[in-house]
Amino acid sequence: MTTATAATPTAIDVRSLSKSFGRKRVLEEIAFTIAPGERITLIGPSGSGKSTLLRHLVGLTAADRVGSRITLLERTVQSDGRLLSAPRRERCRVGYIFQNFNLVNRLSVLQNVLIGRLGRMPRWRALSARFSADEHRMAHEALARVGLHDLAAQRANTLSGGQMQRVAIARALVQEAEIILADEPIASLDPKSAREVMDILRRINEEDGRAVVVSLHQIDIARQWCDRAIALKRGRLYYDGPTRALTDQRLAALYDDAGLEEL
Ligand code: ADP
Ligand code: MG
Repeated sequence: MTTATAATPTAIDVRSLSKSFGRKRVLEEIAFTIAPGERITLIGPSGSGKSTLLRHLVGLTAADRVGSRITLLERTVQSDGRLLSAPRRERCRVGYIFQNFNLVNRLSVLQNVLIGRLGRMPRWRALSARFSADEHRMAHEALARVGLHDLAAQRANTLSGGQMQRVAIARALVQEAEIILADEPIASLDPKSAREVMDILRRINEEDGRAVVVSLHQIDIARQWCDRAIALKRGRLYYDGPTRALTDQRLAALYDDAGLEEL
């Protein structure tokens, strides 16, 4: 009886999420729940709504339907199509990794990682961007974790794509993000760099217990990387379940509009 009514903790809870741009319906009544510490891939053809969905989760976009609700780490971040403003420190609990890395080219690798601390500082200190010895230590540790400790002083624009993405991950680590969302983080990487980035994302899920959600195009990588996949097709939730149960037949139906070469 003690647990029957207790709410199960959730990292991400999405209810009734719909979104249109003009007359174009991009997301339609999406709903799912992700538990703390889960590792999930989001798959679907180009244009199926993956990026739009992830942008709703980080609070960059508001849904358009009354009844919609997004709760992150037990805190409602938007409901009924309205973004609820959260304190900066709260927003830091979700880290976002972009396909194009989003580094500041003219800054060093270390400075790019330290940027992850800005939201954690009081505003007056963030403006001066003076980082403490502790923060420098955190940034060096994060760089060591992603295998880049020897490149701390190098300018960001001298790195390879794979190295840039690892810097972006280190930045999310010093931000102390409890949920990491990555939008096609390996789309522009060669296979070896892609594998390294996916391995690091796996480790920060397994070792730290952070929830990690990665949108991907490559189903073979999704199958090896995690147990659960959420698939979107034309803005609707097409599948939510074990990656191993994503049979070739299901995948063919998922990608039928876009053509199988999408796989
Ligand atoms: P995916 O990431 O799965 O490729 P997206 O979420 O980027 O899909 O896009 C889903 C659909 O929404 C596409 O048809 C895209 O053109 C449209 N879309 C996305 N953002 C906007 C926007 N800001 N304005 C108008 N249409 C948009
Ligand atoms: Mg996208």
